[in-house]
Amino acid sequence: MKIKPLSNCSFDNKKVLLRADMNVPISGGKVTNKERIIRSLPTIKFILEKSSKLIVLSHLGRPIENNIIQEEFSLQPVARSLEEELGRPVKLIRNIDEAINSNEEILILENIRFFKGEKNNDLSLSKQLASLADIFVMDAFATSHRSHASTVGVTDFIDEACSGLLIQEEIKALDKIIDARSPVLAVLGGGKISSKLSLINSLSKKADNLILGGGIANTCWGSLGKEIGNSLTEISMYKEARLLSKIENVLIPDKVIVAKNLDSTPKEKGIDFVKKDDSIYDISPHFFNSIENLFNQAATIIWNGPMGLFEAVNFSFGTSTLATMVANSDAYSVIGGGDTISAASKAGILDSIDYVSTAGGAFLEYIEGKSLPALEALKNKNI
Ligand code: ADP
Ligand code: MG
Repeated sequence: MKIKPLSNCSFDNKKVLLRADMNVPISGGKVTNKERIIRSLPTIKFILEKSSKLIVLSHLGRPIENNIIQEEFSLQPVARSLEEELGRPVKLIRNIDEAINSNEEILILENIRFFKGEKNNDLSLSKQLASLADIFVMDAFATSHRSHASTVGVTDFIDEACSGLLIQEEIKALDKIIDARSPVLAVLGGGKISSKLSLINSLSKKADNLILGGGIANTCWGSLGKEIGNSLTEISMYKEARLLSKIENVLIPDKVIVAKNLDSTPKEKGIDFVKKDDSIYDISPHFFNSIENLFNQAATIIWNGPMGLFEAVNFSFGTSTLATMVANSDAYSVIGGGDTISAASKAGILDSIDYVSTAGGAFLEYIEGKSLPALEALKNKNI
């Protein structure tokens, strides 16, 4: 049960459907961090050398799945960016019929999460997608933990399926982390609280020290009965969060940055001084300075998820201080996640990281040893 690599497929004059992860940050109709697009280019160029037609699939954000195009989640800026990178026309198409009828060589279908049935791996959408091409290339490592029509279902109905070069690279790099050298320092933050909380337990076993930040840290403090005001949290996760907060090597920062709202002046506070009308928007840089020894001692550092609302300058210093400490450490460093990449890039340290995974959730699940549905589907295809 092995995944067929791209190099074992014959693309000559075939139509190819590529699932990439081009879920990139967009602001003012422009892509603000191209990393995931750039990391998809080797596979795209490989395919284009041989195939007759390439149709790219990707999602962007979390739109409503109702077959209607919502402009703020349109892949238009991604199509333009891809066109610039390739130096060739890339046509954005709105529906499957248009994809069948178009004679253009490179197409990108609108945000696959507009299409009804994507998220519940619907049979009919999977079949329609499969009807578009002869070969399916799965290269969206960052979405391979989702069992969706464009990541799993389509594999069953297409003639041939294989993995792209990015997936191969990610697996090779992350396999090294599974046997990481200790001491291992892990840092976990971000906003996807419920999906990440469940991974803390196993990450705390793998790591010698695990530091929490972002909405995850807020949820832990809230679960311990601390006042967290209007901070980002998920109350439904409190039971689980309370158990995790008590694990010995889990560190929840007790110096935070709060504000009444995004436009008011930020203040540093000890966690016991947060008021009802405060929101915790960041971790204090002083907290990271106080644990510098953990960064100096670590042989491996794993980081996913920003420490705060880094998109706003006032609340970006916890994340940028962390990013700089990761970059300056002698440890082998691995970071992953769309927003984490964006934050590391803003902090200007991306080049000092040993391995940058394009994935967040999938990256954590993979190093935890979970099987990823899209990779399983590729394996099963070749039985
Ligand atoms: P990644 O994409 O790196 O896996 P996530 O998607 O889980 O990370 O989370 C990133 C998002 O979490 C960012 O948009 C960031 O603004 C938000 N975030 C982190 N901490 C906070 C906080 N304290 N309050 C509000 N938003 C936060
Ligand atoms: Mg994200």
